[in-house]
Formats: sequence, structure tokens, C-alpha cells
Amino acid sequence: MRKTEDLNPYKIALEQLDEAAKKIDLDKNLHEKLKYPKRTLIVSIPIYMDDGTVRVFEGYRVQHSLERGPAKGGVRYHPDVTLDEVKALAMWMTWKCAVVNIPFGGAKGGVVCDPAAMTERELERLTRRYTSEIGIIIGPEKDIPAPDVNTNPKIMSWMMDTYSMNKGYSVPGVVTGKPLDIGGSKGRLHATGKGVAAVTEDILSQKGISVSGATAAIQGFGNVGSWTARFLYDKGCRITGITDISGGVFDPKGIDVPKLIEYTSGKKIPSLEGYPESEFEKNPEEANRRLIGSEVDVLIPAALESQITSRNAEMIKASVIVEAANGPTTPNASNILEKRGVTVIPDILANAGGVTVSYFEWVQDLQSNFWKEKDIDASLIDIMKTAFKDVSDISRSEKVDMRMAAYMLAVGRVAKAAKLRGLYP
Ligand code: GLU
Repeated sequence: MRKTEDLNPYKIALEQLDEAAKKIDLDKNLHEKLKYPKRTLIVSIPIYMDDGTVRVFEGYRVQHSLERGPAKGGVRYHPDVTLDEVKALAMWMTWKCAVVNIPFGGAKGGVVCDPAAMTERELERLTRRYTSEIGIIIGPEKDIPAPDVNTNPKIMSWMMDTYSMNKGYSVPGVVTGKPLDIGGSKGRLHATGKGVAAVTEDILSQKGISVSGATAAIQGFGNVGSWTARFLYDKGCRITGITDISGGVFDPKGIDVPKLIEYTSGKKIPSLEGYPESEFEKNPEEANRRLIGSEVDVLIPAALESQITSRNAEMIKASVIVEAANGPTTPNASNILEKRGVTVIPDILANAGGVTVSYFEWVQDLQSNFWKEKDIDASLIDIMKTAFKDVSDISRSEKVDMRMAAYMLAVGRVAKAAKLRGLYP
């Protein structure tokens, strides 16, 4: 019987760090330090539910590294959130910020809850109490939260307001991904998708394939999946499959992405369910199986971790995988894909567009000076293309895959900062 794979994200993150450390011959003391989060805060979040009863939720904020600047990373609301997942996501944020060379360390937050089963007022109370509880370690110069899975600009407004109320003055720079009217940045909402589309175009062109006329399949249709689909569609790419938790939409002739976005966003809780213009597969497992095995040029996981594992890596027919989600491919699956000649653009490069524009938002907030959308988009593309080239160059010169190349670059940069600063005391 085949040994089942360990899907613990923190163990996976440590394994990835170990591999990169070996390759760059990382000093073993620095390696030891980078294995652990700098700070881990676990909070209880008691709130009144709308029926008058009190429920206590568990929340986390983990700061992995502050070597290169304040910690940065989103907050996710999901029933399956675990501390080990948040620790892994925080470490991945450290590497992501280093790959695109922005002056941040890595952090992540999470609350174990099911936002789909909560009212807006309950979500607001949860967000405000969570923000207040983690208020002792966040701040524009310390750690700056942002949206992630199931969190959005509205939730960022409540976080910004709560932190500001506790301080007694407005502190827009405490979170990014806010609405424009309270210090948000133009271009932030679509930034991750724009970056994913840019690196997809780059890797396809490296393989001699033009994005216009290429085919793609996308797992997930939240902020990242839907904007990625939109940008690729606008570049002429044919998207033949898109899934979410309700099922999947399939169309060999290409899905009309703007129409699909209009359909999903018209619902109270956005979902693909029942989309009438293309074939809708209502069994989510079957939809996912079909999507992963799609005959396409590019497969884009844009949902959660550990979606591509040793169980389904052999089924993949795409020649390129672009990881829009964080941690979607397990190390075992990565090995299988490498042997099969599938190119994987790793998460810490592919989805770094979001945190890049978060960095622009933070700078704009600190200076109270707001930029034009075209300048933001141009700077984002410039950063993504530079990072893509840096990683491809290492991949070529060191004869390693793109994930290892990205890790070598990122871990090397963080280790350099840690070495320069030295170990206190
Ligand atoms: N949650 C996003 C990510 O995983 C964005 C983080 C940020 O903007 O700080 O990259």
C-alpha cells in the first residue's frame, strides 16, 4: 500500500526550506533561525451572535520574519484554518516578499470560522474583536494585515477602524486592501490576478506559445481566480474550465469570462452554481477531477493548499502550472511534475502581485500621496517581470526548477539580511 502523503503545510514549508538551504549551502545557524516563526499569537474571540448567545472563535497571527522590514500578510477566515497552516503561510509570505524584493518580512492571520454561515453583523463583531486582540502586535511599522481567503476590502475597513479607534486617530497604514475612500490603493483589488496573468504570459512566451490562442483551466473563482481569468481572457487566452466549491463550468470553445463574473457577482454569496451559458458540472469532486486533468496549456490552481498531490499529479496534461494559490502543490507532486517535464511557476513568485501593490498602498498611506492607476499597474508589471527573469536566470544557471530557483533567491536574500543584522544580544 502506498504511504499516504503528509499534507501538514508547516512540515511542507520546512521541507522546502531544507531543500533550498542545501542548495545554497546556507549557514546552519541561520537555517535554524529561519525554521521558526518569530512570533505566534493565539487569541480567543468571544462575540455576541445575532441570537444573543456568546460564541468563542479561535484566531491566530503569526509573524515569521522581520529581517527585511515589517511583517506583511493576509488574514483568512475559513472553518479549516489551523495554526500550522498559518505558520506555513507566514513563512511563504517571507519568501514571497523577498522574491519580488519588497522591504517586508512575512506574516499571516487566520480565524477558524465559516463566514458563509454568519451574518454581516456577526462578521463585523468577529473582525473588530480579532483586530483588537492582535492589536498588540500589528501596526504600520510592525505588521500589516491584508485580505486573503474569504476576507475583503469591507473587512479591511473594520480592521482599520478598530485599530484607529484604539489609537485615537486614523491609521490607514495598518492594513492594506482597503477601499479607496479610506486610503486604499488603485489597482489593489486586481493586483494578484494581474501578476498571475503577467507571469503566465512570460512562461508561455519562453516556451514559444502565445497567450492569445493558448488554453487554460482555473481552480477557484474568488478574487484571485476571477481576476486571473479576466486578464487572460482579455489577452485572448481560451479558458475551458473553471471550478469552485459548488462545481465547475466547462466549455471547450472558451468560457465567456465577463459574463461569468457578472453571473457570480450578482449572487449574495458569489458562486458558479447553475451557470446557464456553458456546461455546469454540479458534483464538485467530479468537476475538480475533470479540471485537474484538462487538456490545456496552463493549469492555474487559485484556491487552497495541497490540491495537486501524488494522487492526481500523474493526471495533469497541462505543460505549465501557475500557482495562483499559496501552497497548492505538495513536494511529492512537485517531484512527479518535474520528472514529467511540467513547468511549475511557484506561488511565491506567481501570486506576489497582491503583496506588491499592498506595498504600494502602504507607501501611499505613509506619505498621504496617492498614485495614478496606470503608474501602479506599470510598476507592478515591472516588478513581476524582473522577479520572473531573476528566477528564470537562476533556474537556467543552476539547472534547478523554477520553485527551487525562487527559493534560492528568496532564502538567500533573507539570510543575507539576517546575517548583516546579526543575532541579538
Ligand atoms: N493574502 C495575499 C497573499 O497571500 C496578500 C498579502 C498582502 O497583501 O499582504 O499574498
